Amino acid sequence: MSGAGPKLRFCPESNDLLYPKEDKERKKLVYFCRSCGYQEDAHPSEWCVYRNEVQHTSREKSVVLQDVRSDPTLPRTRDVRCPVCSHNEAVFFTSSTEQGMELFFSCLSCGHRWRDYV
Ligand SMILES: [Zn+2]
Ligand SMILES: [Zn+2]
Repeated sequence: MSGAGPKLRFCPESNDLLYPKEDKERKKLVYFCRSCGYQEDAHPSEWCVYRNEVQHTSREKSVVLQDVRSDPTLPRTRDVRCPVCSHNEAVFFTSSTEQGMELFFSCLSCGHRWRDYV
């Protein structure tokens, strides 16, 4: 077991790294390209496989606790609303937890962090 995270995906159009994003309407995780807008669904089967893998290593991994708001590599979304301060822009990232792979948001205004089950 290599312990590598989720497989990185690359845009077939521009070869850029694809970022995970939640599709609110379909309640699905998708990958999208920040350069050209290409988008594809995350395959549910892959997430299941990853969930199983993660069971073994989840105890040594924990959710990152640093302030992710200042991390320029993380994607941002304006499709959310902070449950604490109602700000509508947040950084989001996936992290492995005891439950598997989960999507987290961190409010750009107050730093509140919440999760959204994938
Ligand atoms: Zn692209
Ligand atoms: Zn907030």
